[in-house]
Amino acid sequence: MCCDGTLFDLVRLEPGDDARRLAQLGLPIAPGRGRQAARFPQPCAALCADGSCRLYADRPGQCRAFECRLLQEAKAGRVSFAAAARRVATARRRAEQVRRLLRALGDHDEQRALGERFHRTSERLESGTADAAASARYADLSLAVHRLKLEAHAHFHTPPADAPAPRAAGKPRRT
Ligand code: SF4
Repeated sequence: MCCDGTLFDLVRLEPGDDARRLAQLGLPIAPGRGRQAARFPQPCAALCADGSCRLYADRPGQCRAFECRLLQEAKAGRVSFAAAARRVATARRRAEQVRRLLRALGDHDEQRALGERFHRTSERLESGTADAAASARYADLSLAVHRLKLEAHAHFHTPPADAPAPRAAGKPRRT
């Protein structure tokens, strides 16, 4: 979920990252502008079907630094790894429900992050062209996205209170 567009819309490069090499390795790097860092979108082009990272040895700094809250809690012994796995399964089910509803509402753009897909679908439906059935589905979608965001905020994005401050958040949060 850290790399497939569920939790994040993009990854920002850090000063130590070699943007040219990462681009050569297949990441679609968008150059930085002004104070904006260079970045690449999620779902990640380096994510393999088995969930592994094709660029693991060369992955960017944010990818190296990021540990979700749940992993930090499990490593600290405050959550069992079995309980953490159940929590991940719950979040994946919520994300899949969001994907199902997006498809039902006509968005099949699986190569974009869930947050971006939801925003685009919202704009389209809120422009006033939705019939009653689509409006009902959109209500379900909004609720499903809200639940997923709560789950992500509580268990994946927010660092534990005792986490070290530097780079604990790793990848940028979804908007
Ligand atoms: S480079 Fe690898 S670790 Fe980083 S987002 Fe892509 S798949 Fe994930």
